[in-house]
Amino acid sequence: MAKAGPVYVCAECGAVHAKWSGRCDACGAWNSIHEEAPAAPGPGGVRLPRSHRAAILTDLSSTEAPPPRTLSGIGELDRVLGGGLVPGSAILVGGDPGIGKSTLLLQAAAAFAGSGLKCVYVSGEEASAQVRMRAGRLGLGQANVQLAAETDLTGILTMLDAERPDLVIIDSIQTMWSDAVGSAPGSVSQVRSAAHELAGFAKRRGSAVVLVGHVTKEGQIAGPRVVEHMVDTVLYFEGERGHQFRILRSVKNRFGPADEIGVFEMTGGGLAEVQNPSALFLSGREERAPGSSVFAGIEGTRPVLVEIQALVAPSPHSQARRAVVGWDGARLAMILAVMEARVGLPFTGLDVYLNVAGGLRISEPAADLAVAAALLSAREDAALPADMVVFGEISLSGALRPVSQTENRLKEAQKLGFSQAALPERSKAAEGTGVALRSVPDLAAFAGSMFGAG
Ligand SMILES: [Zn+2]
Repeated sequence: MAKAGPVYVCAECGAVHAKWSGRCDACGAWNSIHEEAPAAPGPGGVRLPRSHRAAILTDLSSTEAPPPRTLSGIGELDRVLGGGLVPGSAILVGGDPGIGKSTLLLQAAAAFAGSGLKCVYVSGEEASAQVRMRAGRLGLGQANVQLAAETDLTGILTMLDAERPDLVIIDSIQTMWSDAVGSAPGSVSQVRSAAHELAGFAKRRGSAVVLVGHVTKEGQIAGPRVVEHMVDTVLYFEGERGHQFRILRSVKNRFGPADEIGVFEMTGGGLAEVQNPSALFLSGREERAPGSSVFAGIEGTRPVLVEIQALVAPSPHSQARRAVVGWDGARLAMILAVMEARVGLPFTGLDVYLNVAGGLRISEPAADLAVAAALLSAREDAALPADMVVFGEISLSGALRPVSQTENRLKEAQKLGFSQAALPERSKAAEGTGVALRSVPDLAAFAGSMFGAG
């Protein structure tokens, strides 16, 4: 067996490298690779301890009931969790420092305590007094949540085994450490080992465990991605620092649909639910402004309307700029290429700026046509009809492909007062939504019928 030398681990993605380098070739992060002590080799040649309990087999047809879930009463949170909190589940909540994760989870703990769960909040970042002050500001001073200001994992597990809470919040996983692991607090080994122990506690005792993970920039501290595979549910709390809107998004969920979003607004009294996100994302929209289109999207199980804004201007630089906020830059490049090759509208020598209003990030290909519509509208300096929503996927040939849930998109559009929709031909839509359908076969036909261009 090879002698265990030092190992080099990426703090972004956890990849192990044989030697140090400035850039991780697994995830592309710069300056994220650090030396860590090798994992302690176990005593050689141990035999598995004999268990007297055999594993239990059941039939596929077994009618065992799924574990009961608890609702917090915060609708946006319950939906993102897949319909409430599942006992024994391990949940990671990642996000930028200062975005409001502690506020969200303190409010969640108080809400679950109100639903009858025994809740423990372990803060490794702040003293109990600070957490109490925050609770006071949020009007939760009387909530039945127990606090511990602790970072020693062994001490925390001993307390949890004695207390047997229904819900444990660990804020944050990067501050937890155990002296059984021979590396510094915040290192990949410490963070993984703590997550492993806490997820194991969740399974063993049937408690739900929430791990808060800061998205780190420096690369010294392990990021939340290194524990994503160890938990049942991964949620990210997103938002632009200047905006008061926050989005809780599930990127992995063993107990519900992924890609579900919950929308919150940061107020003086903490995070408030946003019941009608479409109205929020469309507020402040200048109707009949060139360079704007309204996309009828689906986020998780819910339709959401959002404004897409584009600005196209002659570039003073030899290399024209392409800047995107809230969407995929590679996808934008593809649509610009299709526009040039299939519609005959080049963007050469033009700077292109694309923005999804309200701070939402969109990943659906269904947004292609809405993006193209905003770009065309900006390029031709002609506004789209103010009462129109747009959706559809664009293929490399320039043809438009129907997308899923056409009817839900149209219903949401009708609910918000839109009376027409531009969408791909052969979309499965029943009549009677009250929205006039303008179906188009390809991007050239769309450009021609809307702007007389191409
Ligand atoms: Zn990496």
